[in-house]
Amino acid sequence: MIYLDNNATTRVADEVLEAMKPYYTTWYGNPHSAHALGRAAHEGIEKGRAEVAELLGGKAHEVVFTSCGTESNAIVIRHIARKGRARFVATAGEHPSILNLLRELEGEGHELTVVGIDGDGKIDLGAMETALAGGADLVCAMLAQNETGVIHDIPAVARLAQKSGARLLVDAVQASGKIEIDVSALGADYVSISGHKFHAPKGVGALWAREIAELTPLWRGGGQEQGLRSGTESVPLIVGLGKAASLAKRRLPSMDCVGELRDRLEAGIAAVSDVRVHGAASPRLPNTASIGFRGGDATALVGRLDEAGVCVSAGAACHSGARSASAVLRAMNVPDDYAFGTVRFSLSRETTPAEIEETIGILART
Ligand code: PLP
Repeated sequence: MIYLDNNATTRVADEVLEAMKPYYTTWYGNPHSAHALGRAAHEGIEKGRAEVAELLGGKAHEVVFTSCGTESNAIVIRHIARKGRARFVATAGEHPSILNLLRELEGEGHELTVVGIDGDGKIDLGAMETALAGGADLVCAMLAQNETGVIHDIPAVARLAQKSGARLLVDAVQASGKIEIDVSALGADYVSISGHKFHAPKGVGALWAREIAELTPLWRGGGQEQGLRSGTESVPLIVGLGKAASLAKRRLPSMDCVGELRDRLEAGIAAVSDVRVHGAASPRLPNTASIGFRGGDATALVGRLDEAGVCVSAGAACHSGARSASAVLRAMNVPDDYAFGTVRFSLSRETTPAEIEETIGILART
């Protein structure tokens, strides 16, 4: 099996699993209990918080643990919506955890402006400035796009948001662990991440916020996580997230090698097929290749690769005989010829050169 679908999810790192185990079997106390087992669990959580803060260049008290990236995004968006009729601005490339929620809120009377992305997958900053001219409450702009891997100029978006008096939510779910992140340099007010994208388990994420205390909780209860996220914390998952964050930080330099493998994959595929690499002219995550095979059928390609033991994702879908490209490819105006045949290959620091060569060989035969 060759796993090239790491933007969907990653394998839990061995070190992460090892770090988590004692918190299931030995240090299983409630982190809010006053006894030794409770204190040990509490220390595990606070270590995890410090490790996540370090990955993001923030402070530990600015980090709250959640169940996933979707929840982190929802906390911020619903907080803004609770304050009255809100004006939201979001890029066309945002993940459904943001766009679908914002569309629901638009249906309830809030205002939503979607700012386009250009043919290279970059945010149209001119359109962003226009959208913000009349003021806004929240701008949602992702750091790296999950399909194309394009890295957005968030500091530029932050300057525009600040000028208009809007807060900025940066979805860093795909960027974390793959590129250096510094919340201050980004100019963000809120940053969301998700563990399963960088070798922590599924079911744990985090929200970084400049001012946790001013956020409104999605639900009420025992007041855990500074009152923002009531419910007994999942100590093992948080410990795993922290361990994955510190490993990712330490191994960031290895992403250069991942970038070389990705480039080799793109070159190898271009040599055997008529393809277009989406976002190739923009800064991109080193692990992501979104490749449109001219005249190809993404669903069929993914199926053929699956039969050959290669796991990838399609950038287009076929439902009841009708083909549709992803919203991101449509926003980029990718011609149908390439859009319908788009496949996303996403590598990780565990991907080997041999796997890349084998994939190129399989694609040549397919
Ligand atoms: N944001 C982006 C950019 C993503 O790629 C994803 C997941 O694919 C999410 C948010 C949602 O993360 P989670 O699966 O942890 O809810």
